[in-house]
Amino acid sequence: MVVGAGIIGLATARELSRRHDGLRIAVLEREPRIARHQTGSSSGVIHAGIYYAPGSLKARLCVEGAAELYEYCADHGIRAERNGKLIVATAESELSGLDELERRGTENGVPGLRRLDGSQIDEIEPHAQGIAALHSPATGVVDFAEVASAFGADLAAARGSVHTGCGVTTMTGEGDGVRVEHQQGTTMASAVIACAGAWSDRLVRAAGADPEPRVVPFRGAYLRLRPERADLVRANIYPVPDPELPFLGAHLTRGIDGEVLLGPTALMVGAPDAYRLRRMRRSDLAATIGWPGTWRLVRRHWRAGITELRHAASRRALVAAARRYVPELKAADFVAGPSGVRGQALGRDGSLVDDFVVSRTGRALHVRNAPSPAATSSLPLARLIADRAEAELGIGD
Ligand SMILES: Cc1cc2nc3c(=O)[nH]c(=O)nc-3n(C[C@H](O)[C@H](O)[C@H](O)COP(=O)(O)OP(=O)(O)OC[C@H]3O[C@@H](n4cnc5c(N)ncnc54)[C@H](O)[C@@H]3O)c2cc1C
Repeated sequence: MVVGAGIIGLATARELSRRHDGLRIAVLEREPRIARHQTGSSSGVIHAGIYYAPGSLKARLCVEGAAELYEYCADHGIRAERNGKLIVATAESELSGLDELERRGTENGVPGLRRLDGSQIDEIEPHAQGIAALHSPATGVVDFAEVASAFGADLAAARGSVHTGCGVTTMTGEGDGVRVEHQQGTTMASAVIACAGAWSDRLVRAAGADPEPRVVPFRGAYLRLRPERADLVRANIYPVPDPELPFLGAHLTRGIDGEVLLGPTALMVGAPDAYRLRRMRRSDLAATIGWPGTWRLVRRHWRAGITELRHAASRRALVAAARRYVPELKAADFVAGPSGVRGQALGRDGSLVDDFVVSRTGRALHVRNAPSPAATSSLPLARLIADRAEAELGIGD
């Protein structure tokens, strides 16, 4: 049984169904439809693998995942476009950050990565300005919800099933299986793989695992560039990110539908489904506030926190940040856009866990941290989870 029909749960179920003919696989999803959360509300960027520490899972699986995803989309008639990305340094103080990104991207094997000086920026993005930039032609865009649907269709073709409106409440080891209580009753599974995104630590804690790391929700809001101003952005323009944080900074993205979005912001919120800023649930809030790592994070990154608060509260402030690299942008060029909520693992010491994390309790594997670029990396990440399920849970024996 797989819990969660986001892109990771569906990719994992698909991978296992391809390896083991005759294995009965069911995906249980709490919402009435698949890909309702992070998968359906991302920036839709197929990352090329620039940012991630060489040797990390993120670095390896992102580079492999991007190449495999383009191929998968081409084979399945899903529109994906390598429209490229520019990371722009606008001040001398950002040059060392840009150097580090160039070093990481090169070491990670990102195809076609090229350093530009300020005068070359307008060859790629005529309205962008800066003192230096990195250009990644292999970065692209896709609709990850469409990819997740295709994974679901592959699973169905292999006689696997997806059950929506079927939230899992508890998982308890029983005999050589797992007793799963869910909204539609009780099911005995021989093994469970939980891919519950921003809700992942609920299941993991209920299953008796180490409460560290805790998953905290970060809301990301976007602004939409008015269509009559959309020619200011050809493809994807990003700032040099804060190296201390796993977020990439508010960026301009021309999605696969041609719309240009500015965002996302990154504000810690009171529920994993806080699509509206005011939404909070007492138990979620208590879990976040009661975690010592939350306070250590706030103490360490209070400056970045204030900036994010300003960006979340004021359209002008968010647009001013983007104006540093596209000076012609004005607040009046934007209208409110969509929002998403990231699940991000936070250690007890206040560190935001950077890499993907998968852990085990009894006959269950738990994907505990699958933030960006997990959607890009979904195909090889699913292989890694399936390998562990075979080795540690004996699936397919
Ligand atoms: C604003 C934003 C921008 C992003 N941009 C990018 C990007 O450009 N490129 C990129 O590669 N990645 C991006 N990401 C990250 C990417 O979206 C995620 O890494 C990826 O979608 C994670 O997939 P998932 O399946 O783990 O999580 P989700 O898509 O959140 O799926 C988890 C599923 O589990 C279900 N679930 C939870 N608890 C239960 C339960 N108890 N029982 C049953 N079902 C349950 C949920 O309803 C949900 O459907 C972005 C994320 C956000 C939020």
